[in-house]
Amino acid sequence: MENSPENCNVKVALHIRPLLKQERRNGGEECLDVVPGTSQVLMGSHSFIFDHIYGGGGSPSSNMFDECVAPLLDDLFQGYNGTVIAYGQTGSGKTYTMGTAPKEGSNRGLIPQVMNTIFNKIETLKDQIEFQLHCSYIEILKEEVRDLLDSAVIDRLETGDGNAENAVPGKLPVQIRKASDGAVSLSGSTEVSVSTQKEMTACLEQGCANRSTAATDMNSQSSFVQQIREFHVWHVCNSRSHAIFTIILEQKDKNKGEASSNDNFGGEEYKCAKLHMVDLAGSERAKRAGSEGVRLKEGIQINKGLLALGNVISALGDDKKRKEGLHIPYRDSKLTRLLQVCLTLLNSENQLWQNVLTYSNIYHVFPFSLSYISSIGNEVRISSQGLSTRHFEKDDASLGGNCKTVMIACVSPADFNAEETLNTLKYANRAR
Ligand code: ADP
Ligand code: MG
Repeated sequence: MENSPENCNVKVALHIRPLLKQERRNGGEECLDVVPGTSQVLMGSHSFIFDHIYGGGGSPSSNMFDECVAPLLDDLFQGYNGTVIAYGQTGSGKTYTMGTAPKEGSNRGLIPQVMNTIFNKIETLKDQIEFQLHCSYIEILKEEVRDLLDSAVIDRLETGDGNAENAVPGKLPVQIRKASDGAVSLSGSTEVSVSTQKEMTACLEQGCANRSTAATDMNSQSSFVQQIREFHVWHVCNSRSHAIFTIILEQKDKNKGEASSNDNFGGEEYKCAKLHMVDLAGSERAKRAGSEGVRLKEGIQINKGLLALGNVISALGDDKKRKEGLHIPYRDSKLTRLLQVCLTLLNSENQLWQNVLTYSNIYHVFPFSLSYISSIGNEVRISSQGLSTRHFEKDDASLGGNCKTVMIACVSPADFNAEETLNTLKYANRAR
């Protein structure tokens, strides 16, 4: 037992995909055992506990979306940011889980369900609230941020007057900017305005099509056995980059100032919050994918992001560290800097943040979810995008233990993936 289920800062779920036909055909056997009726998984002599476990036979069937993501959507409508992160080796089911490949068969991954829920909620609230939805889709490859929804470039391609050589969709670099108020933002990333689910799905599909598909060398001179061992890299599509699909929800109260003003707003006029759906690069060690040269270098840079993310998550989960200097190493990679966008809490404000931690009970909230702390006193104000402001009384219990970041660790049950699976279990365990 390597951790207790209480005191989570980040909710961590394990998703064990079934053995695939090819794996079975190649003699693969399952090497994970879920202890029935629990959220504990055994692998050889190792034991791990998660907030939830999905798949893996022994566990009761339950709904990942309802348990892990739906609460974030409730928060989104309350003006809080949320982040869902899929972590795992290539072929472990990250894309399947997130639904970032919406055309794949009848798969109903998380993103399509997120969209469904958002549009249903809007439908029921639209009489009182005016909604504006935007989405952006970026990827981080080799520590460079790229816009996957770069419509200008796509338009040029479609009308045929683009320079064929330069007009590669999604290849324009996006800059991470730090404004004078300390807010971190992206410049140059497209935020597409959408008003229907169909439009949002089209954005997702367009972005997926633009995502990097650099393949790892799989048809080399590996022996048959090695090839079996490396089965997971058959699905190398998209394995090299981190992809972040962001839904931005803006709300305006239509009844502002009237006595019947709806509860959802708590007297505010405007709210804006973001939901990040992150499909991380494959976590496998570079050597296992037979990578060389450029590919290997990419592998190292990808691991830099994953390493930094692990460190950030682990630092946030470490009470002692948090109470002492609160050095959360966001700046170590583009990935962590970007995920910090919704926190916009920078070094200069550490003291402020620390006071917030000390004076209120909100430190259970993973800081990715919060935005900008504008003042403290008896009262703490935290605003999203510097626009909507939330007030917290000292010891406001409503946020205590309320996780707004969910990490879904994806693993293959196959014995020949055991080494990477163990790495994933350990990494995810650090988050708790
Ligand atoms: P990753 O994005 O981590 O590289 P994928 O999502 O592409 O992995 O999954 C690899 C393969 O496994 C795909 O063919 C996918 O359809 C299949 N797969 C993944 N998860 C599941 C699941 N829960 N049930 C059935 N098939 C799955
Ligand atoms: Mg994938």
